[in-house]
Amino acid sequence: MNLKTLIAAVLGLALLAAAPLLTSNSYYVHMIGTIMIYAILLYGLDIVVGYTGQVSLGHSGLFGVGSYTAGVLFLKLGAPLWLIIPSSIVVTAGFGALLALPALRVTGPYLAMVTLAFGTIIQILINEMTFLTEGPLGIKIPKPSIAGHKLSEHEFYWLTFALMVLSLVVVHRILKSQLGRAFEALRGSPVASDCMGVSVYRYKVYAFVISAGFAGLAGCLYAYSEQYISPNTYNFELTVLFLLAVIMGGRKTRSGALLGAAIIVILPKLLDDLEMFRVVASGLAVLMLIGAVIGIAKKMTTPKAMAIPVVGTIALAGFSYWLQSITDWRLSIFGLMILFVVYYLQDGIVGFARSLFARKTSADKRVASVSGKDAVMVAAHAGASETGTDLLVATGVLMQFGGLKAINQVDLRIKRGTIHGLIGPNGSGKSTMMNVLTGIYVPTAGSIDFAGRSVVGRTSSDIALSGIARTFQNVQLFGEMTALQNIQVGLHHTFASNFVDVSLHTPRFNCEELAATERGLGLLDFVGLGNLAYEEARNLPYGKQRLLEIARALALDPQLLLLDEPAAGLTAPDIKELVAIIRKIRDHGITLILIEHHMDVVMQLCDTVSVLDFGQKIAEGKPAEVQANEKVIEAYLGGTAA
Ligand code: ADP
Ligand code: MG
Repeated sequence: MNLKTLIAAVLGLALLAAAPLLTSNSYYVHMIGTIMIYAILLYGLDIVVGYTGQVSLGHSGLFGVGSYTAGVLFLKLGAPLWLIIPSSIVVTAGFGALLALPALRVTGPYLAMVTLAFGTIIQILINEMTFLTEGPLGIKIPKPSIAGHKLSEHEFYWLTFALMVLSLVVVHRILKSQLGRAFEALRGSPVASDCMGVSVYRYKVYAFVISAGFAGLAGCLYAYSEQYISPNTYNFELTVLFLLAVIMGGRKTRSGALLGAAIIVILPKLLDDLEMFRVVASGLAVLMLIGAVIGIAKKMTTPKAMAIPVVGTIALAGFSYWLQSITDWRLSIFGLMILFVVYYLQDGIVGFARSLFARKTSADKRVASVSGKDAVMVAAHAGASETGTDLLVATGVLMQFGGLKAINQVDLRIKRGTIHGLIGPNGSGKSTMMNVLTGIYVPTAGSIDFAGRSVVGRTSSDIALSGIARTFQNVQLFGEMTALQNIQVGLHHTFASNFVDVSLHTPRFNCEELAATERGLGLLDFVGLGNLAYEEARNLPYGKQRLLEIARALALDPQLLLLDEPAAGLTAPDIKELVAIIRKIRDHGITLILIEHHMDVVMQLCDTVSVLDFGQKIAEGKPAEVQANEKVIEAYLGGTAA
């Protein structure tokens, strides 16, 4: 965070804290309190939606669990605040684990459906379990007491404020740590996360559990704030509102969550009052017009693109003056405004505001990143000792997709410290072989031993952590993360710090984070990307993306590195650079398997080459021998060798 945002954040928070002193109207104080409570939930929801990229329509259910944990504990046991808050968090986090189960099997619209059902079931359960929850009657709870003193409306506001700030700090720290990077990596590429040793399974569950914990805290505060809870609060509409708040405010920002919370609390209230609606609609139209004029003048947008939003907002303002009564139109207008934001500002309001200022800051950062040593690159390698012995032995590997034998009885022996080429025509099974070696597919038959241990049946992340790293034929970077963060995901295994270390920024965490940054920058330098550390991966040119993938794989400290067509799509100078980098990697004692179509690259680099054709190994030997082999020429090299 830079100084300016920090100052803005502190000022904003100070203003929030002072709000009860600035107005004597308790209606407004209560409203701002509700916004802060929703914001706590939205910080958590953003972990799931914004960072891991899963949809959840179950969060109103979780919010309900939090409220009812508080309500029931108070009603049945008369439990005090200090017990109720942690209980609500823990119980709801448990329900979050339940909600994570479907997310492990389905994604997208299916997940939306399942989570929606989850929320509905919670609501029904609250309604039906009258012996515990009093059913539709609801539960009354008074404002809590601390040390025998019952909190006033204002004091409760400050308690909410304090917990909101605490949540903000904790969420922010989680998301800026290895945990947050793991969450974000899932969204960017689940396959690559697994192959970097970050178990998709585990981190999806973590994300839902942590997210639910915040929903629980919010629910608990909501119960105290309203002093009355009943099942129909936690309905479908609320859950959709939560999701929209995250999207409107802007994914992956805490200020966006606060803004989104404010919108969903205030906007419906503004629309209750026709006069107010006229002011808001006119204001919106004027802002939009000014925005469009500036945007067009600065050549950031075209008149054509701005036509519909400008005309739309002006029409809305006109409509507001034409209306006699707003009651019938309220929901439609609310829906329309939301659609509008979601459609035109896909990164939300905060995301949009950021994009206006983005260019300058990323240029500032770039200067800071030039560091210069190659030595940080690879930790002295344990596996490098016994060159010439077998590192990987695959025997009789069969991989069948329906009737197709993509790999048919292939044996492979990879010697330590060598570069082993794997070539063959398109569709001959090379990439499938890599997928089998890295646990993405479980072979139909055959055995694979790596460093004396079987690979078959283990998860990709487990295999990755045991020392096999890879790149992908179709680049699989974490697009929204910077180059450095991509590599830091590869360095995930170097972190021992847990949730508590991360939240408190203990010396252990600070130390690991610093080391991961230094290592990351070192690896970037190693592949010649030192000056692009803070550039988002998706904005890098294709050739650089391939190099970044190699650097990320090296971050795992692998014994074996699999490269799937690293030179594909590269220009001649880039290929030269790549060859030099691959040599350096081998010189550091890392064994490589190289799939490549550029024969000159294969000839220059490989110690041994295996040739696949229709899933079968048809030849193997030194590059020159293979190149001269009749079968190979016929199957593959025919065109080029002739
Ligand atoms: P290469 O990398 O050598 O070009 P692949 O390993 O990608 O070839 O593919 C080998 C064969 O296996 C192809 O015929 C491909 O269509 C098939 N194949 C690969 N993955 C799958 C899958 N998940 N399901 C069905 N068929 C697959
Ligand atoms: Mg392939």
